[in-house]
Amino acid sequence: MTFRFDNSYARELEGFYVDWQAAPVPAPRLLRLNRDLAGDLGLDADRLEAEGAAIFSGKRLPEGAHPLAQAYAGHQFGGFSPQLGDGRALLIGEVTDRSGRRRDLQLKGSGRTPFSRGADGKATLGPVLREYLVGEAMHGLGIPTTRALAAVATGEPVLRQAGELPGAILTRVAASHIRVGTFQFFAARSDMERVRRLADYAIARHYPALAEAPEPYLAFYEAVADAQADLVARWMLVGFIHGVMNTDNMAISGETIDYGPCAFMEGFEPGTVFSSIDLQGRYAYGNQPFILAWNLARLGEALLPLFDADAGRAAEKANAVLGTVGARYQARWLEGMRAKLGLAGAEEGDLSLAEDLLAAMQRARADWTLTFRRLADAVTEDEALRPVFQEADTLQNWLSRWRRRLAPEAARRIRAVNPIYIARNHRVEEALAAAHAGDLGPFDRLIGALSDPFTERAGLEDLAQPAPAGFNEGYRTFCGT
Ligand code: AMP
Ligand code: MG
Repeated sequence: MTFRFDNSYARELEGFYVDWQAAPVPAPRLLRLNRDLAGDLGLDADRLEAEGAAIFSGKRLPEGAHPLAQAYAGHQFGGFSPQLGDGRALLIGEVTDRSGRRRDLQLKGSGRTPFSRGADGKATLGPVLREYLVGEAMHGLGIPTTRALAAVATGEPVLRQAGELPGAILTRVAASHIRVGTFQFFAARSDMERVRRLADYAIARHYPALAEAPEPYLAFYEAVADAQADLVARWMLVGFIHGVMNTDNMAISGETIDYGPCAFMEGFEPGTVFSSIDLQGRYAYGNQPFILAWNLARLGEALLPLFDADAGRAAEKANAVLGTVGARYQARWLEGMRAKLGLAGAEEGDLSLAEDLLAAMQRARADWTLTFRRLADAVTEDEALRPVFQEADTLQNWLSRWRRRLAPEAARRIRAVNPIYIARNHRVEEALAAAHAGDLGPFDRLIGALSDPFTERAGLEDLAQPAPAGFNEGYRTFCGT
């Protein structure tokens, strides 16, 4: 199998990683190959079906691969860890996809590395399939994301709190794996030469036009702020909760990365938290825009000496960018909300129109996804929201205000941006439970629905329905460890 690797990270960034090999696995078996993504990458999917077990388990290194573990640091729940790094992952190389974009191929769950900090370097079946599934859901929604190319079972039992679980490895494709925490790793060691080299590399790879800007590093900071603000706005618009927005889990490319304890919210409540380890609700749904800015402040700190030789002026420049994050986020969110509501153009009162609906949704704990989707019917039918909204009567006033603002063909527009299918927690759990029992049918069916979440199809009615009452109140998600 030819991958035509071109490993720029290994070549240009010596000292930013450790050369490393995947641990041997006893009996690798290819569970799923993402044929759609393989096609995008210009790979021969049929051949990968045959050879994928060896390649995607790290057992056989494809020609031209250069496996390495990347160094990074990060603020975890607000506290700084100077050394994290790929503790259970290996970048195996970079390929150029059909549209000319450089993409990383990474094995996740491939064994211990020098960054493992006492953990085993392994991954288990449930979290691997969960990351695969949620990544595909995000891709289907048009949200920038890393994606799974393959999932393999290793044939090795992995010990976790719950007992022995089946081992698995995910092959992840990303625009790059450079994180806010990658900059922090070198900044924390006062190695500004390496911070500069990493910034030059990241500019060339992700924002090449900025190399010509009068102040390229400041322009880079601004571009990352913009990409991440856009990303978080998109999460908010679909009710996605990342769950662990540590600075090591925020990609410079603006892709969603590291699907651990993430989940989609059903009934709207800004305080919603599913992660079992997020005891203070730091990464609650409604906090995500604030954490976005907090994380970008940490990136600004790491880059500070690159902005200006004078510390005071450097801080002023960083603060000028940071001061725009709230407005950038808000503008993207409002633009997205106008589309969700099917509004024509932009008017002064649109924000309060949106906020009044959200307030009513919160009072009723109305299902985020179905409320917006049913607005398409509410364009003409007064009763359309009744099935998802206990207090539909209180909405009559809102509906008439809203209808005056509708764009032509509003119903069609609303359906085009508000999904009918999301990765609902109970369906994800159901698919993972079946996979543990050896049946990938529900997993495939769910991915099939999520690959085109805006088109309602006969036979998928169950996947559009919220969880049984009470399910999400007690639902907890866990990190993949
Ligand atoms: P995460 O919370 O998954 O983003 O991981 C945070 C840090 O813990 C990263 O440095 C991971 O590589 C590391 N890590 C997580 N799980 C494991 C594991 N099973 N073995 C080794 N390192 C791990
Ligand atoms: Mg991580």
